[in-house]
Order: sequence, then structure tokens, then C-alpha cells
Amino acid sequence: MKCNLCGYEFDEKESIPVCQSCPLVKNCKLIRCPNCGYEWPAEPDWLKKIKERRNRKNVKR
Ligand SMILES: [Zn+2]
Repeated sequence: MKCNLCGYEFDEKESIPVCQSCPLVKNCKLIRCPNCGYEWPAEPDWLKKIKERRNRKNVKR
């Protein structure tokens, strides 16, 4: 997982749980960069799979 803002790469587990203290909506799946604090919504699994496939094609020589 990579921060869109600063480019810092981190594991999804490392991301700061944004909604832990949120009283209204829990598990809204926001991801927060541990480096710069930028928040964005987590990608759904199907989107990840598409990206992984694309990356594999790009890596292949
Ligand atoms: Zn960042």
C-alpha cells in the first residue's frame, strides 16, 4: 500500500485506524498514512486484483 500524497509505502496493518474514536461510523475503511497523516478510502478487493494483474504485466519482460 502506498500513500498517494507522499509516496510512503506501508502495510495496510500499519495504517493508523482512523475510525477507532469515531462515534458514528465504524469501519468506514479509511486508510491513514503513518508518515504524513493523509487519509483516503481503502480500495475494494476487486480493484486490488485488477491492479495486481496490471502490475504483473508491467513487470514481465
Ligand atoms: Zn503520506
